[in-house]
Amino acid sequence: MIGLIFGPPGSGKGTQAARVEAEFKLSHLSTGDILRAEVARGSEIGKEAERIMSAGDLMPDDLIIRIVQGILRDPDVSSEVLLDGFPRTSEQAKALDEMLAQEGHKVDFVIAFNVPEDVLVERLLHRAEVEGRADDTREAITERMHEYRALTAAVLDHYRNSSVRVIEVDGVGEIDEVFERIREGLQAAG
Ligand code: ADP
Repeated sequence: MIGLIFGPPGSGKGTQAARVEAEFKLSHLSTGDILRAEVARGSEIGKEAERIMSAGDLMPDDLIIRIVQGILRDPDVSSEVLLDGFPRTSEQAKALDEMLAQEGHKVDFVIAFNVPEDVLVERLLHRAEVEGRADDTREAITERMHEYRALTAAVLDHYRNSSVRVIEVDGVGEIDEVFERIREGLQAAG
């Protein structure tokens, strides 16, 4: 089972992914978390990631695709996966479809959050105060929203136009309430 959790920055992907992981026995794979771990380790990828992420830009497709491919091909990694933060461009979506097809797999479902942009910006500015993430400055947030609209939103159309189940979820509300909507959506879809 391969699921994607998808939405604009601040839509609650990471928070809800942890809940979905526990309830539906999927392993949560977040490219943002992977990159932040590289930054913390001070690796070559981490140095590049630090610069790009703090500006709110996207990492190069080929680099991210290689990282995800390496993980999905690892025999120790479960084939029950919830991807968070990937794919973020049409190129990445095509690459994911191809790498899964080679193993006889496909994306089974997409959970897609709808949250108005003013709510997103408010949440990210609040998170800046609480967590101090390097990419939660006002400038980086503006750039991340731009990248989302310009490059990432197309990923949802890619899956809407294929046979993949897309479960659209209203992401405004309490964490439990939003999770309940996801659970209902996944159960209704079988
Ligand atoms: P958010 O969804 O809140 O923006 P993430 O933790 O998913 O946060 O990602 C943080 C940053 O990591 C992105 O703004 C981008 O710079 C980088 N990143 C994560 N995933 C990808 C990806 N698939 N392609 C390119 N860049 C990525």
